[in-house]
Amino acid sequence: MFQRKDNRPFLIAGPCSAETEEQVLQTAHGLKHTGIHLFRAGVWKPRTRPGAFEGVGAGALPWLRRVKQETGLQTTIEVANGNQVYEALKHGVDVLWVGARSTVNPFSVQEIADALKGVDVPVLIKNPVNPDLELWLGAIERVANAGVTRIGAIHRGFSAYAKSRFRNAPYWELPIELRRRMPDVPLICDNSHICGNREDLREVAQQAMDLNYDGLMTEVHPLPDEAWSDAKQQITPEIYQALIQ
Ligand code: PEP
Ligand code: MN
Repeated sequence: MFQRKDNRPFLIAGPCSAETEEQVLQTAHGLKHTGIHLFRAGVWKPRTRPGAFEGVGAGALPWLRRVKQETGLQTTIEVANGNQVYEALKHGVDVLWVGARSTVNPFSVQEIADALKGVDVPVLIKNPVNPDLELWLGAIERVANAGVTRIGAIHRGFSAYAKSRFRNAPYWELPIELRRRMPDVPLICDNSHICGNREDLREVAQQAMDLNYDGLMTEVHPLPDEAWSDAKQQITPEIYQALIQ
């Protein structure tokens, strides 16, 4: 799982957040023929400031089941605690991911890992928000120690105070070192959260491919400007199709 096949990258795409049943299904139908391997959507959203849209919650999980039934696409969501793991698995979500704000916290990661014991579901682990390779490695080890055998790492960039054209500084040396230390863990580039804009998505995706990453995670929304979260970085299914050509 998550590896390149026939030299084609493993592609994950879908909206930042599941907003409505219609938006989720429209996105999934728009992506169905692009050849993606996994449909993403955020159901519980970790927002930096209170008052922003915090996700629909468990009520959005039946929408993802419909995505699977209608398009045949497998689904993935972010989980941040044991109860979210339980709810996701109960509703048939295929792959779970640990977000950057959870990877920084060994208590959170351990709680997620404990909830995963005895359930060998594939798990993707994003880098921590801060450029600390040990935290990223530690999170992967905690999940692996819970008995999870299919694990991938997602590089989504790192917080930096200095202004730059990126929302999250890529610091490519960290994922490269992660791969040196854990050569069997597939590495996926989340170009959307690195860029924080639409214009740089292609360049960052290309750089990841040049570095022989296994795949890409990209945020796609039918009406990006109207998205309830991360509007600036989302692209339509049509633009996504052109991006992965
Ligand atoms: C997301 O994927 O929408 C998200 C919140 O990601 P991250 O954990 O990388 O900030
Ligand atoms: Mn997002």
